[in-house]
Amino acid sequence: MEGRTHYAAAVTEELIGQTVTVAGWVHRRRDHGGLIFIDLRDRTGLVQIVAEPVHAENFAELDRVRAEFVVAITGMVRARPIGMENPELASGRIEIEPLRVTILSEAKTPPFMPAEAENVDEMLRLKYRYIDLRRPSLLGNFMLRDKVLMAVRSFFHAHGFLDVETPSLARSTPEGARDFLVPSRLAPGEFYALPQSPQIFKQLLMVAGFDRYYQIAKVFRDEDLRADRQPEFTQIDVEMSFMSQSEILDMMEAMLRQVFYESLGVEVAPFERMTWQQAMEGYGSDKPDLRAGEPLMDLTSAVRAHIAWPVLQAAPFAGGAVMRHYQPTRKQLDGWVEFAKGQGASGLIWIVKSGEGLRTSAGKWLDEQALQHLAAAARLGTDDTLMIVAGEKFPSLAVLGQMRLEFARQEKRIEDGWRFLWVTEFPLFEWSEEEQRLVSAHHPFTMPHPEDIDLIATDPLRVRSQAYDVVLNGTELASGSLRIYQPELQAKIFAALGLDPEETEEKFGFLIHAFQYGAPPHGGIAFGLDRLVMLMAGARSLREVIAFPKTAKGVDPLMNAPSPVSTSQLDEVGIQIKK
Ligand code: ASP
Repeated sequence: MEGRTHYAAAVTEELIGQTVTVAGWVHRRRDHGGLIFIDLRDRTGLVQIVAEPVHAENFAELDRVRAEFVVAITGMVRARPIGMENPELASGRIEIEPLRVTILSEAKTPPFMPAEAENVDEMLRLKYRYIDLRRPSLLGNFMLRDKVLMAVRSFFHAHGFLDVETPSLARSTPEGARDFLVPSRLAPGEFYALPQSPQIFKQLLMVAGFDRYYQIAKVFRDEDLRADRQPEFTQIDVEMSFMSQSEILDMMEAMLRQVFYESLGVEVAPFERMTWQQAMEGYGSDKPDLRAGEPLMDLTSAVRAHIAWPVLQAAPFAGGAVMRHYQPTRKQLDGWVEFAKGQGASGLIWIVKSGEGLRTSAGKWLDEQALQHLAAAARLGTDDTLMIVAGEKFPSLAVLGQMRLEFARQEKRIEDGWRFLWVTEFPLFEWSEEEQRLVSAHHPFTMPHPEDIDLIATDPLRVRSQAYDVVLNGTELASGSLRIYQPELQAKIFAALGLDPEETEEKFGFLIHAFQYGAPPHGGIAFGLDRLVMLMAGARSLREVIAFPKTAKGVDPLMNAPSPVSTSQLDEVGIQIKK
């Protein structure tokens, strides 16, 4: 072909009268009163080609092209006739009159047209992902992803971080998901594990004195792919030495703000900060969406003082969610009761304040004056509604937190903008009902809060950690922590987790040994890159920001993976498949 001189979107009025060569896919072909119109598509957009029968040779060639053929067209740029301009396109004021047409590649009728892909079954789209990816909206997501990565790298480079790669053939790391295993041929019966994160390696790099590390790392977790997850995904993985928690938070906040500025042109406000306790009490969630209205409230004493209902008197906690400027119908109120029950509450009490006074579902248990007091305790305005849930504290708050979100969604009260939040002081341990033992809330290398060290032995579930999350608009974007770097403290934590010394030696020995050779204080964090780009792009699913994603069943319909392998391949790694 003749060398391309211009991208489609670059062919504008300045080029009128000049000859250009464009190349790309036939987006659309129309015959109109003896003329052939072609919309030629490339990565930048569309440009219109108009051929007239007088140019017999080109005309015949263009007459042959069909949707998705690949062509190169050399032609003269001319202004579109008055009234025929398309303000939506960068090239919308011009068209190209073809002088030379080359069909570079023919195309079968595609299973779907890129422009219509949005309405096509996802399995089909993933099977023909290269056609699906021709959609400009998807392409836009990858352009954004590229910008984000450029901004991330330039930030880290400017701040002295080294980009270091760590192995993919590794062994189990402590993120707590199931490993993907890779059988070893050279050691039959033995397996590598694909890393769930570079956690141990990055800590070893700190022991090595690298001081500041980052990596755009592919990581693997074999989880049931509920909701929107992918078995392999990308982390912006970071670790730093000799920095306090607040210095780490400041550094990472600066990174994200730079990323937003450079890739979206958005100046993000300084992140809000709250402890895990404050998040749970204020929003019933460790990832509050701050765009969805005011926090929840603790109404325990007000409820006890004013509602005589024995069930409520006995409840350890009562919380409230105020729905401002909301006058629900009876049917809507019943809907909220059902919603609360669906979330696990045993019941819901509502109080509606209007010009006519107060109404409540608990009328039997409180008189007008008590109702007034309760409404005042919740600072109810004249057209507000109050929802009360009582019971165990955190479960009740969780229900109210869900109601707060659902209300904001239903009534379109979610504010615009980017609300970033640091949540700090997560609990160090959680109780696993399944395993009947303590497990790490983050991972076992997380540094406990200095004030809570003594509680490890006496009241472990009350131990706070120096772990932190970044939350953006109600989505968890990153998790990290200061790390334990003293072998004795680490041993204490392993003991609390019920791991015996042999087990810890076998699982994490290499890290504990490393700590005996001079370990700096260090800490880090990992961001979910796919999720970050998804939010920034306003995409609905991770699959819109990953070029070749898997389905919810972990299948890649394009390559047909996973797939059986030959017996000889299995023999080489000493594996026999159980039927
Ligand atoms: N490795 C952790 C994770 O992937 C993050 C960290 O602590 O840096 O969740």
